[in-house]
Amino acid sequence: MRQLPQRMSEKLYKNDYVPEETLKLRKKFRSFAEKELFPIAYELGQRRESNENFPMELFKSMAKKGFFKVPHKKKDGGMGLKYPACAAATLAEEMAYISASFSGSVNAHFLLAGMSLAQGSNYIKRNYLKPLIECEAIGAFAMTEPQSGSDVRSSSLITKATKARGGYIVSGQKRYITNAGIADYTTTLVDLNGKSCMFVIDMKSKGVRTSEPDKKLGNRGELTYDIYFDKVRVPKENLIGEVGDGLKVCLRALMYGRTGIGAGGVGMAQSAFDESVSFMNERKAFGKTISQFQHWQFLMAERAIEIENARNLYIKSGLQIDSGNQFPILESSGAKFYGSKISVDMARDAVQIFGGYGLMVELGHDKSTYKVEEIYRDSKVGEIYEGSNEIHKMVIAREIFGR
Ligand SMILES: Cc1cc2nc3c(=O)[nH]c(=O)nc-3n(C[C@H](O)[C@H](O)[C@H](O)COP(=O)(O)OP(=O)(O)OC[C@H]3O[C@@H](n4cnc5c(N)ncnc54)[C@H](O)[C@@H]3O)c2cc1C
Repeated sequence: MRQLPQRMSEKLYKNDYVPEETLKLRKKFRSFAEKELFPIAYELGQRRESNENFPMELFKSMAKKGFFKVPHKKKDGGMGLKYPACAAATLAEEMAYISASFSGSVNAHFLLAGMSLAQGSNYIKRNYLKPLIECEAIGAFAMTEPQSGSDVRSSSLITKATKARGGYIVSGQKRYITNAGIADYTTTLVDLNGKSCMFVIDMKSKGVRTSEPDKKLGNRGELTYDIYFDKVRVPKENLIGEVGDGLKVCLRALMYGRTGIGAGGVGMAQSAFDESVSFMNERKAFGKTISQFQHWQFLMAERAIEIENARNLYIKSGLQIDSGNQFPILESSGAKFYGSKISVDMARDAVQIFGGYGLMVELGHDKSTYKVEEIYRDSKVGEIYEGSNEIHKMVIAREIFGR
């Protein structure tokens, strides 16, 4: 079985600026992830996508330890932390350090679905948020459609609602929706006569079905699907917020999600970095270890700075949300952009550092496995989902130059 490399972050970085509460939770979660996630991480990252591969036991175990309570208020069944967004993002880093696939599935459940349900009525919180926190139900978050992911203005959506007696009728299609095939319900962005609405829709409702899971380059343990809605009846109680609030509800949840993607990028980058340090100290060429070549020393010095910078950005984004800023644009877009970029950069370097081993899923000679190829495949999606990095640059450019 694989061994975890030495955690270089413990050696290199100070944590004084991170809230004590977050550090405590990180310690607790790290020990859980090393004990329960690490043993199944290789399988999660390698197996082809199928519903049977969803790590339900691990989800249940996370719920039992109360980890899905992290981002939520006490009155909503959450932990009631002082810095919930900061803590939730830190969990995303710790998960992605071991398995980006797992981090992707969990983030869709507890951050995207969870934080959109948290904006709903008491009825929604009681019937949908609480079971999700307890993991009596699995949640999904459906915004993207086949024709449109970056552009989710109401006028571009093909998922439409019409008013009906006691609620609404929804028809349309969503694409790449994480957890959808095994989810009990999904929060869903729809257009109602030019106004955006966010509904929570039961996946067992008549007229809802999903595709087979998508087969992907990376994040194979994060299962994504199309969802088809054919004249689905949605009770009026399942509207989150008001008619016209849909995009706002999505964006508020995405502030947590994007901060989490940035943090996940840091986790992957740190993992590729640590794997590289360990390999460089062992592997020799021309009578020296790879770690003795200045070319790689300088590159690793730069990456060490960049990874910590990305970590600082996601912590800052989390702390901004926790201080009451619902839309910390520069921090959340910056954390998402920079964390995902550094994970791709570091993964590419790590594959290069490993030479031929960098490409090995499993070496025929002795069945040994190498994590860096998985990080290389898994990191890419961070630059694409929850707003592509071009969209985040556009959002930041608006802050600089105005619309
Ligand atoms: C593994 C995975 C999991 C996902 N999970 C979910 C989920 O749970 N829920 C959900 O709703 N969605 C999910 N998505 C969808 C994801 O959020 C979208 O793929 C993403 O938002 C990009 O949308 P798109 O793929 O339609 O690309 P498009 O919007 O078609 O963009 C294509 C390219 O054009 C660029 N582009 C677009 N507009 C501009 C512009 N104005 N200026 C410059 N460049 C531009 C983009 O940056 C991108 O490079 C997931 C996707 C993946 C791959």
